[in-house]
Amino acid sequence: MPVIDRIARLHGDMTAWRRHLHTYPETAFEEHQTQDFVAERLREAGIEVHRGLAGTGVVGTLSVGDGPAIGLRADMDALHIPEATGVAHQSVHAGRMHACGHDGHMAMLLGAARYLAETRRFRGTVRFIFQPAEENEAGGRRMIEDGLFERFPVDSVYGMHNWPGMEPGCFAVRPGPVMAAFDIFEIVVTGRGTHGAMPHLGIDPVVVAAEIIGALQTIASRAVDPLDSAVVTVTQVHAGDTWNVIPDTATLRGTARAFREDVQEAVEAGVRRIADGIAAAHGAGAEVRYERRYPPTVNHESEAEVAARVAADVSGSDAVDRDPPPSMGAEDFAFMLRERPGAYVRIGNGPCGEGCSLHNPTYDFNDDILPVGATYWARLVETVLDADA
Ligand SMILES: [Zn+2]
Ligand SMILES: [Zn+2]
Repeated sequence: MPVIDRIARLHGDMTAWRRHLHTYPETAFEEHQTQDFVAERLREAGIEVHRGLAGTGVVGTLSVGDGPAIGLRADMDALHIPEATGVAHQSVHAGRMHACGHDGHMAMLLGAARYLAETRRFRGTVRFIFQPAEENEAGGRRMIEDGLFERFPVDSVYGMHNWPGMEPGCFAVRPGPVMAAFDIFEIVVTGRGTHGAMPHLGIDPVVVAAEIIGALQTIASRAVDPLDSAVVTVTQVHAGDTWNVIPDTATLRGTARAFREDVQEAVEAGVRRIADGIAAAHGAGAEVRYERRYPPTVNHESEAEVAARVAADVSGSDAVDRDPPPSMGAEDFAFMLRERPGAYVRIGNGPCGEGCSLHNPTYDFNDDILPVGATYWARLVETVLDADA
């Protein structure tokens, strides 16, 4: 069962919506124009709209008779990246762009909403969940804290993300972990500043920080079971201002990823042990801040099966990878999957040459897959909320 005809005829509209959203990207919790646009499109389709959850979030509700409720989630935010695609619909908001395809995610869900509101071939309730601030700021958690699932109950919840490097319109979904937990850490090493030519008169925090950076690499290789996955990456090193002065402090920042809580605990313990121990060995001090940002994204067994079946109906079973390797990237849909059963699928965005990866300044969402993604959403609703069941 390929793309639904009515949705194929919405391809032009979805493309226009996607490109409009791409031209006016907004970042975490500032998605005001985006919120207006999404709410307006839902209202045009005759869908009841609630605004304001997590500030700029939008929830659309469409009910047909009595039945279960399903949540479909799209993310709304852009990234702090100056766009370098050169396309006609390039961002006009300096320093911001939709480099993760959330513009496409919104357009696909709006297309499905339009179709479902017209055809109403299901029994139950669909919640169209448009969430702000997926990147770094946990807008999904904020929506839950604002009462998302109390005010707009659902029995299951589903998410979708485009995936560069996968053939356009193919799907990948598996039960269990699909995206990693996202932790951050900061280590402030305090030594004692002195003349660069007289290091013996102070305590050099730069040398201590360098040793810490090296030793942090042993967490994944020595402190975590080789059969488990973990990443510890230092992404920032800040110390000193000039050629001939040893500074007082050096600051390291970075991120850690894992799929399970006990591995996160081992990583956090390792970061603290290494920072404290190495600093102490040199007579310096180390202050460690370790923060758990997102939990792992873990698909539920039966919902992942439903998602795979629907994806196979849409694109053919050869086009569905039922055992994709999990990604060490992170996703705040994880918070929704902790509250309700559901599944998160990847949809292929097309071949990935240099620069088309997510978060790259030359990335652009592939408009060819809009009808495929919208059809997946529509068929998922018609399957889970089967009117004939
Ligand atoms: Zn992203
Ligand atoms: Zn994303």
